[in-house]
Amino acid sequence: TSSANKPPLEVLICAPRGFCAGVVRAIDAVEKALRIYGPPVYVRHEIVHNKYVVESLRRKGAIFVDELDEIPDTQAPVIFSAHGVPKSVPSEAVQRRFFAIDATCPLVTKVHREAEIHHKRGRHVVLIGHAGHPEVVGTMGQLPAGAITLIETVADVETLAPPADVELAYVTQTTLSVDDTAGVVAALQQRFPQIVSPHKQDICYATTNRQEAVKRVAPQVDAMIVVGSPNSSNSQRLREVAERAGCPISRLVLRAEDIDWSLFGNIRSLGLTAGASAPEVLVEEIIDAFAERYNVTVESVSTADESVFFPLPRELRDQAAE
Ligand code: SF4
Repeated sequence: TSSANKPPLEVLICAPRGFCAGVVRAIDAVEKALRIYGPPVYVRHEIVHNKYVVESLRRKGAIFVDELDEIPDTQAPVIFSAHGVPKSVPSEAVQRRFFAIDATCPLVTKVHREAEIHHKRGRHVVLIGHAGHPEVVGTMGQLPAGAITLIETVADVETLAPPADVELAYVTQTTLSVDDTAGVVAALQQRFPQIVSPHKQDICYATTNRQEAVKRVAPQVDAMIVVGSPNSSNSQRLREVAERAGCPISRLVLRAEDIDWSLFGNIRSLGLTAGASAPEVLVEEIIDAFAERYNVTVESVSTADESVFFPLPRELRDQAAE
């Protein structure tokens, strides 16, 4: 059909969106390990929470496992995902003489070290995060059992029963809702006025900036699409932020083929963003899908500039690439 027959659609695309520095580093680590050592390269856990990324690395020779015990004795590199790992994982890797490469995001490692320092100073640590998320499993696993308590909500603050007569400190998951977390922190500080806070909040720059851009765009559009995987915490939060900002339709979409056209077939404006683990090629694919049905104009709405870059894990830095 010619563009004359298509209804107009104004697409407001959020900036920043998509890959953060930690995700770029983790994917680059797997690709560089594959180039230097050749396949297979083992990766513990989805390197980042995106099926498209995982499948493309799998085609290049990466083998994804949930736990190290699925890996045979091998000389091949074993990479830990961007979300971080409990201490038991690197120690098991040493024991099995694996060549381990840690692709944990430096901003997650920073939270791990904070938790450790609190513990060394005799404080009980409260972790604000989502139960079962690999980052939470990794952060909990920095300390001995019982030294850290997970809470998720304001209601959890009320029932929290920390050990008596010890100082308290809190840390958080890096990909939480900025607004929800502020509420949980306020409740913690009200109930435990002496609780020690992070110097700078643990929610990372990428999470904060992506939520901020959605807050700007969502009130201006009929519908919002967040490109990302259902198991991606930061992507889920972006969808919620859009919903709370008053956008009537907000959906998390992995690929263009997942778009429910009964929801998106009769709109005048669309907001678009992508979670920190979603590649830009999938954003383009979604714009193309809308362009088949609409006469699309795309405008970028920018709320922050990002220039964060993390060098590759040490084990891969000195090696020549080819
Ligand atoms: Fe690191 Fe933040 Fe990206 Fe997570 S979302 S990998 S903490 S930069």
